[in-house]
Amino acid sequence: MKFFIQTFGCQMNVNESQKVEALLLGHGLERAETPESSDVLLINTCSVREKPERKVFSFVGRLKAPGRIIGVMGCVAQQYGERMTERERAIDFVIGTQNLHRVPEILETVLRDKSKRVETRFYSPETSLEIFKAPLTSPKVSSYVTIMQGCDRFCSYCIVPFVRGRERSRPSSEVLEEVKALAEKGVKEIILLGQNVNRYGMDRGNDLTFPQLLRKIDSIEKIARVRFVTSHPASLDDETIRLFGELESICESIHLPFQSGSDRVLKMMGRGYSRALYLEKIEKLREIQPEIALSADVMVGFPGETEEDFKETLSLLETVQFDTLFSFRYTPRPMTRAAEYPNQIPEEVKLERLQTLQALQSEITLKMNRLQVGKVKKVLVEKPSKRPDRFMMGRTRDNRVVNFEGPSDLVGREIEVRIIKGYQNSLLGKMEEHHVY
Ligand code: SF4
Repeated sequence: MKFFIQTFGCQMNVNESQKVEALLLGHGLERAETPESSDVLLINTCSVREKPERKVFSFVGRLKAPGRIIGVMGCVAQQYGERMTERERAIDFVIGTQNLHRVPEILETVLRDKSKRVETRFYSPETSLEIFKAPLTSPKVSSYVTIMQGCDRFCSYCIVPFVRGRERSRPSSEVLEEVKALAEKGVKEIILLGQNVNRYGMDRGNDLTFPQLLRKIDSIEKIARVRFVTSHPASLDDETIRLFGELESICESIHLPFQSGSDRVLKMMGRGYSRALYLEKIEKLREIQPEIALSADVMVGFPGETEEDFKETLSLLETVQFDTLFSFRYTPRPMTRAAEYPNQIPEEVKLERLQTLQALQSEITLKMNRLQVGKVKKVLVEKPSKRPDRFMMGRTRDNRVVNFEGPSDLVGREIEVRIIKGYQNSLLGKMEEHHVY
């Protein structure tokens, strides 16, 4: 029996799909190459942005076929539960965010009893994180390791605490074992995942804190690089910031969402920091690590956002000069406080603000990429590039994509590349002769 997992959403969803895949392979199922050739189709969903259920139902509509078992898991599954099977009869089972470890067992009962199943309950912290014990079957040069799940912050626009639950950290022993096992399989870069990684361990009494965990991972031989997402400006502490200048494995890049440049809007969002505090964190990071590349998330059109507030967001972009920015327009999410706020912003205003902001950031990103020209950068080679023949793709420590001509046996190695051109989303480089690590 062949299965296919279609993943929507964030890196955390990607990692969860990888873990579910490992479980299903362990239960004797095989991977299908395409959704069309699958006997079992699983859809891992995300409900952070608008109307995600529409995306899921249209995907199911296109892929349903006689005899094909279809399961929906993740955030949308958690949010809608049995309403999904009621609305679309082709959906056979629905699995909430804390039930992923049960996928094989639930699939078995669906096949055996020819009945529908909906499982969306929340569990104890340990059981809710059980899925992450499954070892990755085919790890890449750069692999994800989820260290925690859920969030306690309840920002006024965010559905995550409702669909993923409260903060829960994996035991450090388990995380470290997973990193060591990945290192043995040839993984060179680890990306630690959590909704707010800076709060790692806070729920676990005397287990390791996040900076302590980073130190332990740094001491694991063969792991050359460590990154982590997502940090929260109010939780990112000085000890973690200092590690950017201290630990060799910590890459010179950080993703630190700011969401708005206006204190008034930040307050309405319930973000727990001010513009000044955000800028202070950026200053400290650049002081410790002048080469650090900065990326962030920002939202426009939050209820009540005025032109003045929006201008403050633009001015924050000018001040910080982010290397990369992920920008969105606000969309009301069910269960959240902001969905009930008065002064919702008309769609056309949101769109106009988004376009203005993206135009400004495009200029900044291009400028930052062009500033790399002439520099020699260490690049971890990941795979053949999308460019024509003989080109490989890798990443610099400051998280820029570099394409360069080179042999495919460089995958997994760090090499030195001279940057010869900077584009909007990537760099073009030339391998330096003598520097392969
Ligand atoms: S910090 Fe705020 S935006 Fe991020 S996951 Fe938690 S509640 Fe959502």
